[in-house]
Amino acid sequence: MRQDYTCIVIGLGGIGSAAAYWLSRRLGADLLGLEQYELGHLRGGSHDHSRIIRLSYHTPEYVTLAKQAYRAWEMLEAEAGEPLVFRTGSLDLFPAGGYIPLTTYTDSMDAAAVPYEHLSAAEMMRYWPQFNLTDDVQGLFQSDGGFVAAARATAAHQRVARDNGAILHDNTLVTAIRPAHDIIEVETPAHTFHCQKLIIASGAWANHHLAHLGHQINLTVTQEQVNYFASPHREQFTPDRFPVWIWMDSPCFYGFPLYGEEAVKVNQDVGGDEVTVENRTFEPNLATLQRTMDFMARVLPSACGPLHYSKTCLYAMPPDRDFVLDTLPGYPNIAVAIGAGHAFKFASLFGLLLSEIALDGNAAAANLTPFSFTRPILHEANPVKEFMI
Ligand SMILES: Cc1cc2nc3c(=O)[nH]c(=O)nc-3n(C[C@H](O)[C@H](O)[C@H](O)COP(=O)(O)OP(=O)(O)OC[C@H]3O[C@@H](n4cnc5c(N)ncnc54)[C@H](O)[C@@H]3O)c2cc1C
Repeated sequence: MRQDYTCIVIGLGGIGSAAAYWLSRRLGADLLGLEQYELGHLRGGSHDHSRIIRLSYHTPEYVTLAKQAYRAWEMLEAEAGEPLVFRTGSLDLFPAGGYIPLTTYTDSMDAAAVPYEHLSAAEMMRYWPQFNLTDDVQGLFQSDGGFVAAARATAAHQRVARDNGAILHDNTLVTAIRPAHDIIEVETPAHTFHCQKLIIASGAWANHHLAHLGHQINLTVTQEQVNYFASPHREQFTPDRFPVWIWMDSPCFYGFPLYGEEAVKVNQDVGGDEVTVENRTFEPNLATLQRTMDFMARVLPSACGPLHYSKTCLYAMPPDRDFVLDTLPGYPNIAVAIGAGHAFKFASLFGLLLSEIALDGNAAAANLTPFSFTRPILHEANPVKEFMI
């Protein structure tokens, strides 16, 4: 088995598969991707049918990055020959006195020249009678919002990467990383591989790999879940009649039109318990489920119905819930990406940026300052954690 490559990607979830794709466009067979489980597995942070994509975000930097994310997906869609991003519009709902201020979103979209509609509760219920809202709730509707077909997008990244010649090994656990001068040794049970550039895209497992390089960061891993409800009124939730939506408060809930299942998907954001990759389970959290169902009964009653299924999934969040997208201090040839529980919409863009960081030494197209590995909050003792964004 070939053991020397220009670049190796550790982890083939949403972000690692995207990195493999964008690197394969320039390296072909000189790119190796390693995944500990089978491709498309259900143990990390990227699985399921859909993930929200939106331009509405809480800072202008994120809004600008989201614009670039759409372009990266368009390029993959063109090469993969299939649609992966579905625009249904996105609706952000802000109850009066809620935890997440509406103005951070309007100011950010205004600063980035993104058009949106500011709606009253009555207007929202006229457009989407599925919602039951009190008068104090305001909404921001942005027409480019929607969802990415998550599992299909990750499979497309993997498929086209292989079509470009990339080597992807699944069921291959990376057990050690040993930098030696300008070569990095990447050890697996059967083989030790060598590369000049390394991408660590191992999500909730990131600190395991950083430890091999003498680094650790503040990272909270939570066990989240996706829930599907077999609403008897699911015809009201088809993508042409219902947007993706986010209830901007704490607790924060979010949902989707029908996609992938004959059931309505509604989840709580950061609704799960803190876990480790060793002690996480695959049992849905019944308290989170009950909170979600109570919320639905109040705000989205026609979506209620028997639970079709719930599936667990991992968030890996720095204390400020900003991403990590940077090279490591002391290792300019090693880059790390961590998605902070909201990065799938950016996955293809992160893949492109990681390929530029690895092969060009920097990501020309994007402002990555907010995502630096050296920002103090990642290394402080007892950092203040703010996960509601
Ligand atoms: C329930 C839920 C809902 C979400 N909703 C949204 C949303 O609507 N919109 C949005 O933008 N984002 C959303 N996100 C966040 C987004 O899905 C994640 O940020 C993103 O998918 C993380 O991708 P990743 O590649 O970093 O992680 P992962 O997909 O977890 O990939 C890491 C990979 O590394 C592999 N790995 C780890 N250790 C090793 C090793 N030693 N050797 C080899 N391989 C290894 C793992 O097996 C895994 O496959 C959601 C996440 C969850 C959990």
